[in-house]
Amino acid sequence: MKSASNKKTLKSQKPAKDNSAKPISDCQRCGTCCKKGGPAFHHADKTLIEEGVIGSKYLYTIREGELAYDNVRQCLEPVSSDVIKIKGQNDSLTCFFFNERQSACTIYENRPIECRALKCWDTKEFEDLYAKKRLTRKDLISEIEGLWGLIKDHQERCNYETIRKLVNAIKSNMDDDTRQKLVEIIQFDTEIRKLVVSTAGLDVEMLDFLFGRPLKQTLKNYGLGELYLR
Ligand code: SF4
Repeated sequence: MKSASNKKTLKSQKPAKDNSAKPISDCQRCGTCCKKGGPAFHHADKTLIEEGVIGSKYLYTIREGELAYDNVRQCLEPVSSDVIKIKGQNDSLTCFFFNERQSACTIYENRPIECRALKCWDTKEFEDLYAKKRLTRKDLISEIEGLWGLIKDHQERCNYETIRKLVNAIKSNMDDDTRQKLVEIIQFDTEIRKLVVSTAGLDVEMLDFLFGRPLKQTLKNYGLGELYLR
């Protein structure tokens, strides 16, 4: 995407009609890539977060082991490490930093490396970069002792491999003990979020970055409705 400071009219930003049938070789500012989900961060982007250029309240983490859509393989798969991404706007996939009216990126000069690499007319550079050197919470937070201890504890107690096994067991036999174990994990996930806000005064908007999205939300990807947990 071009920068928000580019003064072209919206009309001129629409993809031009391709009368000559020439292949596209430049960004047409259609905004399609920014509406399909914000970018994931890589090591090359670390300073953007560390220096607060992109605030952590605008981020969320897909935690190691969590099911997520793989844009290159085009399927739902567990991720092999944390994937830190920019949040969407109003529960949509549209990147938080996309200005719909201007069809422009509001952080263009500081956009993450995936956005620089993604060219819809030639995705090779993006595909080469996609799963390499992803930035994790450990890269960013491990030196903040107390907080990092809580995050590690949460990751152990709410790990997605255990959750996947419990969900499969519940689906196959609705066993009460198994269901109770999963309920306790969900309760822990809920309580730790409340705790860091009430006792440490953390901004509630940072929770999806620090602890990933709430399990009550992500369990939908495992095909487990609330009905199973009653
Ligand atoms: S950071 Fe900017 S270029 Fe990247 S997806 Fe968001 S709006 Fe688009």
